[in-house]
Amino acid sequence: MLTLAAMLVLLFPDAGMARGQVPLPKPRPAEAPAAAAQPSAEEAEQPAAEAAAPPPPPAAKPAPQLSACRMALTEQLAIAPSIPDIKGAGGCGGEDLVRLEAVVLPDHSRVAVKPAAILRCAMASELTHWIRDDMAPLAAKLGSKLADLDNFDSFECRGRNRVVGAKLSEHGRANAIDVRGLKLANGAMISLTDRAASREVRETVLASVCTRFTTVLGPGSDWYHEDHIHLDLAQRRGGYRICQWNVWDPLPVVAPLLPAERPEEAPPRVVAAKAEQGAEPPAAAQQQEAQPAEAEQQPDAQPQAAEQPKPAGQPTKKRREHRRF
Ligand SMILES: [Zn+2]
Repeated sequence: MLTLAAMLVLLFPDAGMARGQVPLPKPRPAEAPAAAAQPSAEEAEQPAAEAAAPPPPPAAKPAPQLSACRMALTEQLAIAPSIPDIKGAGGCGGEDLVRLEAVVLPDHSRVAVKPAAILRCAMASELTHWIRDDMAPLAAKLGSKLADLDNFDSFECRGRNRVVGAKLSEHGRANAIDVRGLKLANGAMISLTDRAASREVRETVLASVCTRFTTVLGPGSDWYHEDHIHLDLAQRRGGYRICQWNVWDPLPVVAPLLPAERPEEAPPRVVAAKAEQGAEPPAAAQQQEAQPAEAEQQPDAQPQAAEQPKPAGQPTKKRREHRRF
């Protein structure tokens, strides 16, 4: 047997080799590497194609940087150059910022914003249209033209009402401005929080700002806005808006004596009792101050309110609900 096998091998050595060569080539790794090399070559080509693609994007970049707002806020409407984004600590800052230096009226005259206000484009734009469309006509009714917008405060990285640790104010987001008044070309001033100023004028301003801005805080909103009007475009759920600005009438000439007389008109018992106690806790003292202040305004807000001790119930509620800014 062994001999026969050995003889077969000896007789047909090539036959054995030929049989082995047929199956081997298919599984051989030689093909795998070759196959792997092809895809890699393709992959190499794709990146190359991508590398070649980038050029277009750079060319398109400049366009996206200009927001729709930025495009719309032309020099025909306002002098408001763009400034770099601000990224401060605690969420302060913003994008698409401008420095609003002046509003350009339809007749090409300018209303200077003093000092210039750092604002998000959207806020600057709304302010611009407010000046052009609402305040300029009001100034015209008063027989003059707008000259300056008294900017009390715009961008400032701080908490609401400058309270340390309080929620970030819209001022910190460059989304708010505090306005004290508007100066006219004839030297007169539309002072928004001056009790002696025309009530009709202030009510006109109140109606316009509460239509345009999502937050309006003025006298009566809290103790932080007695001398200016806060305007911002804060976005809230459901489009909720805050309009808190009580247009006060002038104080009576006998104002200094009012504190002693108030207890008689108002819901008296508690106040009177406290007054007699002399030494009161700080909290009670504050309430006393607040109540007379409200009562003092009631007759102004509603002429018929003279006989009603607490007609200002609703405004008071609202005031307490939104006492944060
Ligand atoms: Zn403010």
